[in-house]
Formats: sequence, C-alpha cells, structure tokens
Amino acid sequence: MDAERLARARLALEGLSVGDALGGFFEFNDRLAAAFLADRRLPSAPWHYTDDTSMALSIYETLRLHGFIHQDELAVSFAGYYERGRGYGPSIHRFVHAILNGQHWREASFSVFGGQGSWGNGGAMRVAPVGAYFADDLPQVVEQSRRSCEVTHAHPEGIAGAVAVAVASALAWRFRDRTPPPAEFLDAVLEHVPESDVRAGLRRARDLSAETTLEAAAETLGAGQQVSAQDTVPLALWIAARHLKAYTDAVWSGIAAGGDTDTLCAMAGGIVALSVGQEGIPSEWITHREPLPDWAVADDEPDEDSHA
Ligand SMILES: [Mg+2]
Repeated sequence: MDAERLARARLALEGLSVGDALGGFFEFNDRLAAAFLADRRLPSAPWHYTDDTSMALSIYETLRLHGFIHQDELAVSFAGYYERGRGYGPSIHRFVHAILNGQHWREASFSVFGGQGSWGNGGAMRVAPVGAYFADDLPQVVEQSRRSCEVTHAHPEGIAGAVAVAVASALAWRFRDRTPPPAEFLDAVLEHVPESDVRAGLRRARDLSAETTLEAAAETLGAGQQVSAQDTVPLALWIAARHLKAYTDAVWSGIAAGGDTDTLCAMAGGIVALSVGQEGIPSEWITHREPLPDWAVADDEPDEDSHA
C-alpha cells in the first residue's frame, strides 16, 4: 500500500520537476518564451530545477520516511537543503534564516506579514506529491496538504492554494481512465477547497467558455505576476484541466501563459503526470532535467540484494 502511494508521489515529483525545470528558463521572460514556443524548441540540457522542486524534494523525503507530513522534520529539511541559487522567494529566505537561528517553524511561518502568514504560491507549487500520495483518501489529501503548506505559508489563501493543487493531483489519478470535461474536473476540485479568493478564482476558471484562449484566461485569472496563491493556482488548474491527457501541452501552456512560468508548469505538470503516467512524460525531457539528488530519491531504485 505504502509502496504504491510512494510510487504515485514519485510520479508527481517527476512531472513537477520537469515542468519546473523547463518553465524555469522563461520565468517573467515573455520574449524568450515566444522564440521557443514558435516551434516548441527545447533549450539545451541541463535544465536546472528551481525552488519549486527543491521544496517538493523535502516533501517527498518526508512522505517516504514517515508516511505523513511530519511538520517539524519538513521544516528542518526545507532549511537543511536550501540552496540560495534556486530562485526562492523572499519569505523563504527569511524562513530559512529564522530556522537556522533556532526559531520554531510555527512562529516563523505564522508571524510574517503582521501575523497573517504568507499567501505566496510557495505552498501550492511543491504540493503535488502530497495529493498523489494520499490520492486514495481525499480527506487526508486536504489535511496533509494543509500541514505541508502552513510550515512556511500560514495564510488561508496560501493554504487554499495548496489544498486545490493537491486535490487536483489526487483527482487526476482518480480520473486517469477517462477524460472529464474541464468544468467537471474543476467542480470536483472545488468541493474540497475552502472559501477564499483562490476558490473564487477557481470558480471563474470553471465558468470560462470552451473557446477561451490561454491569453484571455491568463488575463482574467492572473499568471502568477503577484507570486500569490490567488493569482497562480486558478490558471494552473485551468491549464491542467484542459490538458489532463497531454503532459507536454500542459507544460507549454504554462510557458505560453507568461508570468511565473516555472511555478505554473510545476503545478500543471505535477497534476497532469498523475493522469498520463510516467510514459506520458517524454523521456528526453526527463534526461534534460538535471538529476534529482540522491538524498531525496536514491532509495527509489531497488538494490541488487532486494528480492522485493
Ligand atoms: Mg521557482
């Protein structure tokens, strides 16, 4: 049972990290994106992953070691594997500094922004493996995604964004044998998302007509320009819902949307991977992404002495 859950989380991590690494080339750089989008040309390897993947690796490690989101361990992992060059947002720089100075994660997370906590998209960008792991138990998807988010992003909007992305990942797996219309998929996600601006954005996404262009959707819903959960998650889920059976289309759409492209692609890629499976992610894309570090994924490979 747990091996199956972990395999799903690993698949989400693959989809998330490949999307993040390709999307990362084009973050807030629409001119560059347009040049590559014209013929969907791939940048040369290696594709370096960004903070989205770094933090997802810690989530994956925590699930592998504990089978649930152990918040104290997750906070230590976030701080311990922090790498400055990965494009973290300012609130994570502060968070890591606080943890390394001995502050408890709860105080560090809940005290920022005048005690409101952060509503950045950082809780949602890394959460797909949580949805994947608990995909057979939706109440746990909601609970464990909330726990994974509040370690750094305690504001209700940040948490609503994380819950939405995690539930979408779980539902992508549950819908893997058919292709629900986008509105049906988004309605199923909405059932689990608490009242919030994120939820209002998801309702707007659900109500966009089938003819809506990506450009119009990005204009209406936001494309992460504020780097908030509210202006990133609705568009990411709209993209995932429209391309639930086509991983590359989902990621290229995240790039074409402009804005916070690595995070849009991490979210959409992490969700859609659960629907298309490992074989739905081009192997060339996986080999272009820099290898994931041993501390997070080394144990995934069965060793030679194992007869399991
Ligand atoms: Mg990033």
